[in-house]
Amino acid sequence: MDLELARQVLAIKALARRNQTRRNRIRLVGLLLGTALGAVWFLVAPLSSSKPGSEFAIAAVGGFFLTDILIQLCASTLFPKRARCPCCGHDWEIREGRVMALEMPTWDKCPGCGLMMSDLSLFLILKRSES
Ligand SMILES: [Zn+2]
Repeated sequence: MDLELARQVLAIKALARRNQTRRNRIRLVGLLLGTALGAVWFLVAPLSSSKPGSEFAIAAVGGFFLTDILIQLCASTLFPKRARCPCCGHDWEIREGRVMALEMPTWDKCPGCGLMMSDLSLFLILKRSES
C-alpha cells in the first residue's frame, strides 16, 4: 500500500467516526426533546397514565426512535460525505448495536476488496515513510 492510500484510508476512518458522533448527538437531542415533551405531558395531564411518571419514559423512547427514523430519512442531507472504501466503495460507516465483527473499527481488511485498514498497519506505513 502506498503512502497516499494509507493517508486516504485514515481520513475515511476518521470521517466514519465523525459521522458516528454526529448520529449519536442527534439521537441524544431526540432523547432530551422526548423527555422534555414527557415533562410537559406529565404537567398537563398527570393522571393520564396508569403508572405516574411513565410519560417520561414513553416520550424519551419515542423521541429517540423518531430521531432514528429521521436520521434514516434525511441521511444524505445530514451526512453529505459517507465513509466508503476508496478502492471498492464498500460502506465503512460505523453501525452500532449489531454483531461486533460487523463494526468497521474492528476490521483489519475491507470486507469488499481486502484493502488493509487496521490502525496499526496504517501507522507503520506512515512511520516507515517518515524515516
Ligand atoms: Zn474495499
